[in-house]
Amino acid sequence: MLLAGTVVADSETVIPDGAVVVEGKTIAAVGEETTLRERYPDHERRAFDIVAPGLVGGHVHSVQSLGRGIADDDALLDWLFDAVLPMEAAMDAEATRAAAELGYLECLESGTTTVVDHLSVNHAAEAFEAAIETGIRARLGKVLMDRDSPDGLLEETDAALAESESLIREYHGAADGRVRYAVTPRFAVTCTEECLRGCRELADRYDGVTIHTHASENEDEIETVEADTGKRNVLWLDEVGLTGPDVTLAHCVHTDEREREVLAETDTVVTHCPSSNMKLASGIAPVQDYLDRGIAVALGNDGPPCNNTLDAFTEMRQASLLGKVDARDPTRLPAGTVLEMATENGASAAGFDRLGTLEAGRRADVIGVTTDLTRATPLHDPLSHLVYAAHGDDVVFTMVDGEIRYADGEHVGIDAAAVRERATRQAKRVVEEAGIETDAPV
Ligand SMILES: [Zn+2]
Repeated sequence: MLLAGTVVADSETVIPDGAVVVEGKTIAAVGEETTLRERYPDHERRAFDIVAPGLVGGHVHSVQSLGRGIADDDALLDWLFDAVLPMEAAMDAEATRAAAELGYLECLESGTTTVVDHLSVNHAAEAFEAAIETGIRARLGKVLMDRDSPDGLLEETDAALAESESLIREYHGAADGRVRYAVTPRFAVTCTEECLRGCRELADRYDGVTIHTHASENEDEIETVEADTGKRNVLWLDEVGLTGPDVTLAHCVHTDEREREVLAETDTVVTHCPSSNMKLASGIAPVQDYLDRGIAVALGNDGPPCNNTLDAFTEMRQASLLGKVDARDPTRLPAGTVLEMATENGASAAGFDRLGTLEAGRRADVIGVTTDLTRATPLHDPLSHLVYAAHGDDVVFTMVDGEIRYADGEHVGIDAAAVRERATRQAKRVVEEAGIETDAPV
């Protein structure tokens, strides 16, 4: 297949009248369309206004999709313990499957082709099945919680680690390597030292298994960890083995100088979630400082209860604007830097090589974006447009691993209306069973 259009190949390369040639799961060539059509005359041609790399959601919670709008206007720990965790505890296998499918469809139709997904304690297998079925590229993990957690989510340490291991055996490398495993402790507040050290030990026993957790999102969280351990959060995670190039830490909003040195020295990947950090009023992550230290910073939407969407275009715009206003410096986090965070750095967060740019030999994760819009007129700079003006709704084509998953408003091979119906029904039941009070008018 030959995908023609203005090709935004990476954060520095735009090819007007370009094309991306896909053969099987791989990009065979990228360049001027006229040249590539001569070289590949028999390839089916599809044309888009902009052709770009699929975006990477470096930290999402697909299974929280049922809680979109249930806990607005709250701070992290109340938001978590009063609404989100009770919701997760009330979710059965069917609800988990519906939530994960809904989340993945939202990602695919808004240009996210890869997710690093923090699931829940129970029924994680349902999300793996949903990832396989919907076709998204995914790094997923069952959540571990073995202390200070509500009934229905609290587990024995050994049982939590054993279930993680059995999921690794079943799903790590599934769908021809498109689905991979991350050992996923919730965060230091709800995990014992034994659990955290066990997560490292488990990840080290399986080739390519990574670690994904939350860190230093909120000041109350940090105080709780420091009271328990005597250490700042990132230093504690480092002590128990949860730093390194195979570790993705979501947030890292509040870190001191020594913690930042540790993140850089260990090549730990950080995922910045600007909408979530703003909505929960958690604070502003020092993204520019991390980038200056050589730390790979990806972008993530976090979950629908704290965002309230999984639209990665929104996240790119928010990241840039927040970085600028934080520094009172409009040159901070320009479009190219932010696109790199959402693509190449995202590939590091997700632990997939050959991902994040459009180049020969890379994995064929490609999106097509329309600019036939008032909002896109005039269009001087496609890269600027993608970061500052485009929405997820502008995506008209999504390819993952060489397979078309979404085109012209339709998901391929999956009944999206049925998924939305199941998710609506399950969300109502789960919110009622969990006794969560929403502000919705009766
Ligand atoms: Zn999160």
